Amino acid sequence: MAKTYEFVDHNYDVVVVGAGGAGLRATLGMAEQGLRTACITKVFPTRSHTVAAQGGIAASLKNMTPDSWEWHMYDTVKGSDWLGDTDAMEYLAREAPKAVYELEHYGVPFSRTEDGRIYQRPFGGHMQNFGEGPPVQRTCAAADRTGHAILHTLYGQSLRNNAEFYIEYFALDLIMSDDGVCQGVIAWNLDDGTIHRFTAKSVVLATGGYGRAYFSATSAHTCTGDGGGMVARAGLPLQDMEFVQFHPTGIYGSGCLITEGARGEGGYLVNSEGERFMERYAPSAKDLASRDVVSRCMTMEIREGRGVGKDKDHIFLHLDHLDPALLHERLPGISESAKIFAGVDLTKEPIPVLPTVHYNMGGIPTNYWGEVVSPTKDDPNRIVPGLMAVGEAGCASVHGANRLGSNSLIDLVVFGRAAAIRAGEVVDPKTAVPTANAASCEKIMDRFDNMRNANGSTPTADLRDKMQRTMQEDAAVFRTQESLEQGCKRMSAIWGEMKDLKVTDRSMIWNSDLVETLELENLMANAITTVYGAEARKESRGAHAREDYKDGPLGGRNDDEWRKHTLAWVNDAGDVKLDYRAVVTEPLTKFEDGGIDMKKIAPKARVY
Ligand SMILES: Cc1cc2nc3c(=O)[nH]c(=O)nc-3n(C[C@H](O)[C@H](O)[C@H](O)COP(=O)(O)OP(=O)(O)OC[C@H]3O[C@@H](n4cnc5c(N)ncnc54)[C@H](O)[C@@H]3O)c2cc1C
Repeated sequence: MAKTYEFVDHNYDVVVVGAGGAGLRATLGMAEQGLRTACITKVFPTRSHTVAAQGGIAASLKNMTPDSWEWHMYDTVKGSDWLGDTDAMEYLAREAPKAVYELEHYGVPFSRTEDGRIYQRPFGGHMQNFGEGPPVQRTCAAADRTGHAILHTLYGQSLRNNAEFYIEYFALDLIMSDDGVCQGVIAWNLDDGTIHRFTAKSVVLATGGYGRAYFSATSAHTCTGDGGGMVARAGLPLQDMEFVQFHPTGIYGSGCLITEGARGEGGYLVNSEGERFMERYAPSAKDLASRDVVSRCMTMEIREGRGVGKDKDHIFLHLDHLDPALLHERLPGISESAKIFAGVDLTKEPIPVLPTVHYNMGGIPTNYWGEVVSPTKDDPNRIVPGLMAVGEAGCASVHGANRLGSNSLIDLVVFGRAAAIRAGEVVDPKTAVPTANAASCEKIMDRFDNMRNANGSTPTADLRDKMQRTMQEDAAVFRTQESLEQGCKRMSAIWGEMKDLKVTDRSMIWNSDLVETLELENLMANAITTVYGAEARKESRGAHAREDYKDGPLGGRNDDEWRKHTLAWVNDAGDVKLDYRAVVTEPLTKFEDGGIDMKKIAPKARVY
C-alpha cells in the first residue's frame, strides 16, 4: 500500500501546463477573456526552451519582398511532404500576420527596416510564387533572439492580465474520469515537496518536444516530452511520432544550434574539397533547401568521404565572407555561441557543424483549435472532453513529415491563440469545476510513490544514456528496415529495464533524481512510439528517410498507401499498438469563396 499523500486543492476554469511560447500565448488569451487561468511550469517561464529560438517567426507581412498567405501555405504543404492537415495549414498561413501584429502590439521588440517596419529574413523552404522562387523574406526576427523577446513579452502580459503562475511545479499526470473526460492535473511543488491537485474545465498541455530522447539534440535538457507521456498513460494515442527533424547546423560536439538565419543572411556549407555542395543537390534553393534535404545531403557528403576535420565527420559553415557589422547586428547570439562552443571567431573561420536532432513533428493529435482528438471506429475526429494540446507537444498537424524553419514559433502563437478562442466558446465560467475522480488520483500517486522508492540496480542516468544512444543509432537521419527492427527490439528491452531503476534520493524537496526518473519515463513513451511508428512506415517522406524506399517518381514516397497519419498507443507493459488516420485534404475555405487553388497544392514530387 502506497504512502498517502495530502493534496493542496485548487480549481480553475483552465489549467495550462507549460510556459513556453505556446503555453504563455494560450494563458494570456484565456486570461484576457476573464477565464480563471493557472499556468503550471517545471522551469521558470522565461527559461522554457522557446527562449533559445533564434532565427524568427514566419508570417507573410510583405515588408521586404512580395508575399501572400497562399504562398506561405504552399510552402508549408510542400515542406510537410503532403502529410500536414490542409485545414490547419490554411489556418496557420492565414492567421500568421494577425498573430505577429498582436505580438508587436504586446511589445515584442522586433528588428526594424529603414522605414520602421518589422524586419524579415529569408529562411529554408520559404519561396515566392508557389515554390518557383526566388526566396521570400518572410521570417520576422528580433536579431537572433526572437524566442527570447517573445517569451519575455508574453510572460509580462500574462501577469498583467492576472493569470496565476505555479512555477517549478512538476505536472505528474492527468486526472481522467471513468468515461474519459480530463478533469485536471496533479503536480508536485519541487520547492517545498507539497502535492497539488488542480481541477479545471479545460487542461491545455503545452509541454514542448522530446528532443532529449536522442543523444545529440539542440533542445534544452528539460525537453522530455512530459505531455506525451501523460497522454500515453491516459490511454490516448500519439500521432506521427516517426517524424523527427534533424537541423543541419548543430555545432559539432556540443549540439548547440546555429540558426538557419545564418544561411538566410548568406552563410553557406562546404565539404573537405571546399565545394559548396548544396548547389549540386538543390540547384534552385541551394543552402536554403528545407532542413531534411540539407541534413541528408550533409550526411551523404560525410559518408562519401568528403567530411571535414581529422575524422572527416562533419561539415563547415562559412560566414566569414559576410560583413562583420552585419554579423554583429543580425546574428550577435550565434557569434557568441560559435566562440564558446566551437572556439571559432566566425568573422575569420568556418564553424564545424553536423545534423542534430531539433524538432518533433509528431505529438498529441489535435484539430486546428487545439482540441485533443482520440479517434474511434465510429468517429475519426472524436474530441477528448476537457483536454487541449498546443505547441511542439501537439500535432495539429501543420508540419506533417517535416517542419519549415520559423514555422514553429508561428505555430505556438497561432494555435496558442486558437486554443484560447476555443476555450472562450466552450468553457463556461459560471458552471462548477468537476470533482476529481478519486481512483484516478490514487493511481497517479501510486505511480509516483513507486518511482520515488524505486530500489533496483540501474541508475536513471545509465538507462537514459542507453535509450539516447539507441535512438541516435537506430532512428537516425537515414533509416533501414534492419536499423529500425533493431531499434524496436532494443527499445522494448530498455522499457523492461525500467523495472530495475534505482532512485537514491527519497526526499520530496528538490529531488532532481526523482524528477529525472519521471522525465525518463515520459521520454520512453515518446521514444518507443517513434521507433515503432518508423519501422511500420514503409516509405520515405519528409524527415523519415528510408534507404530501402528511395526509388520511384516521388523518391520513395508512397501516397497511395502511406499518405496517412500514424497513431500509436503504448501501455504500461511497453506494448505499442499502431493504427492510422486520414490526412485532412479539405481546406477551410473553398476556392470560390477566396480559398487557395487546390490544384496548386496537389501532391507532387518534392524538389528544391
Ligand atoms: C535552439 C532552438 C532554436 C529554435 N529556433 C527556432 C526559430 O528560430 N524559429 C522557430 O519557429 N522555431 C525554432 N525552434 C523551435 C521552437 O523554438 C520550439 O518548437 C518551441 O519553442 C517549443 O515551444 P513550446 O511552447 O511548445 O515548448 P517549450 O518552449 O519547450 O516549453 C515547454 C514548457 O513546458 C513546461 N513543462 C514541460 N513538462 C512539464 C511538466 N511535467 N510539468 C510542468 N511543466 C512542464 C516547461 O517548464 C516549459 O515551460 C527552435 C528550437 C530550438 C531547440
